[in-house]
Amino acid sequence: MKAFVVRGVGELELTELPIPKVQEPDDVLLQVKAVGICGTDVKILEGKHHFKPNTVVGHEFCGQVIEVGTHVTHFKVGDRVAIDNNIRCGFCSFCRMGLSSQCVEIKTSALGVMRDGGYAEYCLVPEKQCFVLPDEIDDILGTQVETLATVVNGMNTLLMLPYDYVLILGFGPIGYLFAQFAKNIAAKVAVTEIDPFRISVAKECGLTVWNPNEDDIEARITEFTHGRKADIVIEATGNALEQALKCVTPGGKVLPFGMDSSIQATVVPNEITRWATKILGLYLGQNTMVPSIRIFQEKRLNMKPFFTKVIPLTEGLSAFECLGLDIKTLTHHPKSAMKIVMKV
Ligand SMILES: [Zn+2]
Ligand SMILES: [Zn+2]
Repeated sequence: MKAFVVRGVGELELTELPIPKVQEPDDVLLQVKAVGICGTDVKILEGKHHFKPNTVVGHEFCGQVIEVGTHVTHFKVGDRVAIDNNIRCGFCSFCRMGLSSQCVEIKTSALGVMRDGGYAEYCLVPEKQCFVLPDEIDDILGTQVETLATVVNGMNTLLMLPYDYVLILGFGPIGYLFAQFAKNIAAKVAVTEIDPFRISVAKECGLTVWNPNEDDIEARITEFTHGRKADIVIEATGNALEQALKCVTPGGKVLPFGMDSSIQATVVPNEITRWATKILGLYLGQNTMVPSIRIFQEKRLNMKPFFTKVIPLTEGLSAFECLGLDIKTLTHHPKSAMKIVMKV
């Protein structure tokens, strides 16, 4: 089968691999239908995210079951399934106390990071990672169930209300999904973004968008909210916590969602206390795959401008270019895409 293997930092190679064989009793062999390219995949190639060398990358995928192990009882050949790529042990105290995103084994086994994932024609996954996709969700949208599951975990934590003013820092795929929810729920929403292409997508979605390189975001949000500032600030870049704290109203919530382990921030503890700011950490999805499938099935989000391009697997390298990364030099340039999906 054709597959993209990450050999090392900056080294993504399209190669021929044997089709994986069902070995464990709970194995499900999938024919991959489509796989999305995630910001995490870009970070893996840049050496900014852990990975196991010689792994097939790709964790945003869906596929059709073509073979099952002896103990698989919940799925049959022919089922179309979305995948939760984060394998949780089910036995550690975090798993057993309802906090599976903090599973002690979660970093050791993620599909497309530490074991073979979806940039391939076939992929072997444990049965418990599979979720049946209804017909209303096509293969392209099916790749984004896991992505949405992380955002739904954020929504569960935020408890967004109909009178909330919401500010979203960063309009990548995660900011996009939060903005769609906020448009459905909140009183008013604004987003920030520096990339011209993504600014145009925000405008296409009918959103108020500001560029932090050109606009004073604190002044803008103050004016936008009639002097109050945002009840909820979702920080979807990983590098703007200080900005988020300046834009939130007293008693408001800040959700640091974007991840960049190279960033440090200065906070003034006295101000967190004085202004009763709620800083809410969370990680990945957690019991949110089924809710995400329902949201997509009922067409609750405008997903049209989300998908910039669908390309064949063999053209996968070109996607990184569109996502702003020059693989040869590992340097950045402006992005020309929101989400790119490879059809396998
Ligand atoms: Zn992802
Ligand atoms: Zn666990």
